[in-house]
Amino acid sequence: MHIREFQKLIEDTYLEKDATRGLAGTFMWFVEEVGELSRALKRDDRANLHEEFADVFAWLATLASIAKIDLEEASRKYAAGCPKCRAIPCRCRENSRFAGAPAAP
Ligand SMILES: [Zn+2]
Repeated sequence: MHIREFQKLIEDTYLEKDATRGLAGTFMWFVEEVGELSRALKRDDRANLHEEFADVFAWLATLASIAKIDLEEASRKYAAGCPKCRAIPCRCRENSRFAGAPAAP
């Protein structure tokens, strides 16, 4: 399944309810799911991790739909590797990936 197909599936399943709840309310649900993922990662609960990753991805998809963002198109930011240093794997200094810091030598 492509990212766009997943986003469309989540739209068909939930968008009417999620759009009615609105961006702010839906974002709070998303953050709650991220918290559940954090707990599953801390416990290294393999069975629960599958479920929590799926939930976070589904809530991210519905948020993108409410915000009218095509996730597959947005993901192309990373198609050529790291958007900062353009390398695969990234050669940026640790934690500089989103800060615009120059690449390490
Ligand atoms: Zn990089």
